[in-house]
Amino acid sequence: MNRFLGKDADGIPRAEVMCPGCKTVQVKKGWNLMEKQFVCENCGVVFVPLKRLWQEEGRRGLYMKYDVFKTGTNEVVRDCFVLRPDKDPAALAALRTYAETTPNQKLGTDLLAWIREIEDGGVGSE
Ligand SMILES: [Zn+2]
Repeated sequence: MNRFLGKDADGIPRAEVMCPGCKTVQVKKGWNLMEKQFVCENCGVVFVPLKRLWQEEGRRGLYMKYDVFKTGTNEVVRDCFVLRPDKDPAALAALRTYAETTPNQKLGTDLLAWIREIEDGGVGSE
Protein backbone atom coordinates (compact mmCIF):
# COMPACT_ATOMS: atom_id res chain seq x y z
CA MET A 1 0.00 0.00 0.00
CA ASN A 2 1.40 3.35 -1.04
CA ARG A 3 -0.37 6.39 0.27
CA PHE A 4 0.21 10.10 -0.14
CA LEU A 5 -0.16 11.68 3.30
CA GLY A 6 -0.26 15.31 2.23
CA LYS A 7 2.14 17.89 3.61
CA ASP A 8 3.47 18.13 7.14
CA ALA A 9 3.69 21.30 9.26
CA ASP A 10 6.71 22.48 7.24
CA GLY A 11 4.77 22.07 3.98
CA ILE A 12 6.92 19.13 2.90
CA PRO A 13 5.10 16.25 1.17
CA ARG A 14 5.00 12.89 2.91
CA ALA A 15 4.04 9.47 1.66
CA GLU A 16 3.58 6.09 3.22
CA VAL A 17 5.28 3.44 1.09
CA MET A 18 5.53 -0.31 1.34
CA CYS A 19 8.74 -2.18 0.65
CA PRO A 20 8.07 -4.77 -2.08
CA GLY A 21 10.64 -7.04 -0.44
CA CYS A 22 9.65 -7.34 3.22
CA LYS A 23 6.31 -5.44 3.10
CA THR A 24 7.43 -3.02 5.81
CA VAL A 25 5.46 0.25 5.66
CA GLN A 26 7.63 3.34 5.98
CA VAL A 27 6.90 7.07 5.90
CA LYS A 28 9.08 9.04 3.47
CA LYS A 29 9.30 12.81 3.37
CA GLY A 30 10.65 15.22 0.76
CA TRP A 31 10.04 17.07 -2.46
CA ASN A 32 11.24 14.43 -4.88
CA LEU A 33 9.26 11.45 -3.64
CA MET A 34 7.93 10.84 -7.14
CA GLU A 35 11.17 9.69 -8.77
CA LYS A 36 13.15 8.74 -5.72
CA GLN A 37 14.74 5.38 -5.09
CA PHE A 38 14.28 4.22 -1.53
CA VAL A 39 16.48 1.77 0.27
CA CYS A 40 14.38 -0.27 2.68
CA GLU A 41 15.53 0.36 6.26
CA ASN A 42 14.58 -3.18 7.14
CA CYS A 43 15.80 -5.47 4.34
CA GLY A 44 17.91 -3.23 2.07
CA VAL A 45 15.81 -3.68 -1.07
CA VAL A 46 15.94 -0.66 -3.44
CA PHE A 47 12.57 0.40 -4.82
CA VAL A 48 10.77 3.32 -6.55
CA PRO A 49 7.23 3.20 -5.14
CA LEU A 50 5.67 6.37 -6.50
CA LYS A 51 7.15 6.66 -9.97
CA ARG A 52 4.13 5.42 -11.90
CA LEU A 53 1.72 7.58 -9.94
CA TRP A 54 3.25 10.81 -11.04
CA GLN A 55 4.73 10.14 -14.46
CA GLU A 56 4.10 12.98 -16.91
CA GLU A 57 1.41 14.64 -14.77
CA GLY A 58 4.00 16.33 -12.61
CA ARG A 59 5.16 18.70 -15.33
CA ARG A 60 1.86 19.89 -16.75
CA GLY A 61 -0.34 22.66 -15.43
CA LEU A 62 -4.08 23.00 -15.76
CA TYR A 63 -5.37 21.84 -19.13
CA MET A 64 -8.45 20.20 -20.61
CA LYS A 65 -7.63 16.54 -20.21
CA TYR A 66 -11.19 15.25 -19.91
CA ASP A 67 -14.52 16.08 -21.52
CA VAL A 68 -17.24 15.83 -18.90
CA PHE A 69 -20.86 15.23 -19.90
CA LYS A 70 -23.92 15.52 -17.68
CA THR A 71 -25.66 12.18 -17.27
CA GLY A 72 -29.09 12.21 -18.90
CA THR A 73 -28.66 15.32 -21.04
CA ASN A 74 -25.16 14.70 -22.44
CA GLU A 75 -24.58 18.42 -21.98
CA VAL A 76 -20.86 19.32 -21.83
CA VAL A 77 -19.87 20.57 -18.37
CA ARG A 78 -17.14 23.22 -18.21
CA ASP A 79 -15.51 24.66 -15.09
CA CYS A 80 -14.98 21.30 -13.46
CA PHE A 81 -11.86 19.37 -12.60
CA VAL A 82 -11.51 15.60 -12.86
CA LEU A 83 -9.56 13.80 -10.13
CA ARG A 84 -8.24 10.25 -10.50
CA PRO A 85 -7.61 9.07 -6.94
CA ASP A 86 -6.81 5.60 -8.26
CA LYS A 87 -3.79 7.00 -10.11
CA ASP A 88 -2.84 10.22 -8.35
CA PRO A 89 -1.93 10.47 -4.64
CA ALA A 90 -2.76 14.21 -4.60
CA ALA A 91 -6.26 13.37 -5.87
CA LEU A 92 -6.59 10.74 -3.17
CA ALA A 93 -5.67 13.30 -0.49
CA ALA A 94 -8.17 15.79 -1.98
CA LEU A 95 -10.89 13.16 -2.04
CA ARG A 96 -10.24 12.31 1.61
CA THR A 97 -10.57 15.97 2.57
CA TYR A 98 -13.81 16.20 0.58
CA ALA A 99 -15.17 13.04 2.19
CA GLU A 100 -14.41 14.37 5.67
CA THR A 101 -15.80 17.84 4.92
CA THR A 102 -18.98 17.27 2.93
CA PRO A 103 -22.20 17.74 4.93
CA ASN A 104 -23.66 14.78 3.00
CA GLN A 105 -22.86 11.95 5.42
CA LYS A 106 -23.88 9.15 3.07
CA LEU A 107 -21.64 10.53 0.32
CA GLY A 108 -18.78 10.94 2.81
CA THR A 109 -19.15 7.32 3.97
CA ASP A 110 -19.25 6.03 0.38
CA LEU A 111 -16.18 8.06 -0.56
CA LEU A 112 -14.21 6.82 2.46
CA ALA A 113 -15.11 3.24 1.49
CA TRP A 114 -13.84 3.91 -2.04
CA ILE A 115 -10.62 5.44 -0.62
CA ARG A 116 -10.04 2.29 1.48
CA GLU A 117 -10.63 0.16 -1.60
CA ILE A 118 -8.01 2.12 -3.56
CA GLU A 119 -5.52 1.91 -0.70
CA ASP A 120 -6.05 -1.80 -0.20
CA GLY A 121 -5.51 -2.33 -3.91
CA GLY A 122 -2.22 -0.49 -3.61
CA VAL A 123 -2.09 2.81 -5.46
CA GLY A 124 0.32 2.49 -8.32
CA SER A 125 0.46 -1.30 -8.29
CA GLU A 126 -0.28 -3.18 -11.48
ZN1 LIG B 1 12.24 -4.28 2.96
